[in-house]
Amino acid sequence: MKISKRPFGPFLDVPCDDIKPAGFKCRECRHPVEKLAKVLPNLVPRMFFYSCKCGMVTTWEDEAQPQGSRVWRLNTNLLKRSGAKVLIFNGARKLSAGFSGIN
Ligand SMILES: [Zn+2]
Repeated sequence: MKISKRPFGPFLDVPCDDIKPAGFKCRECRHPVEKLAKVLPNLVPRMFFYSCKCGMVTTWEDEAQPQGSRVWRLNTNLLKRSGAKVLIFNGARKLSAGFSGIN
């Protein structure tokens, strides 16, 4: 049986079944924001990845999650200002704008 996969943010070959709608739309690119929960080996809590055409936002499971278009817009603004494609929240402290692990 072949599992259908597609790219998601910086990841290639993510099983389509793992990608869920986040339940709101991006006000910038007008695309629905999608969400991927990923368990990394030996890492708790899980990481949540949110993505639209503007970029990707990553949070830990135990942190505040982007829950609507209004909050999402703050993220896309930050993505644009910093020129980054991936935004990672780390213990509620934003990494410095110059940080570019994956972008
Ligand atoms: Zn967008």
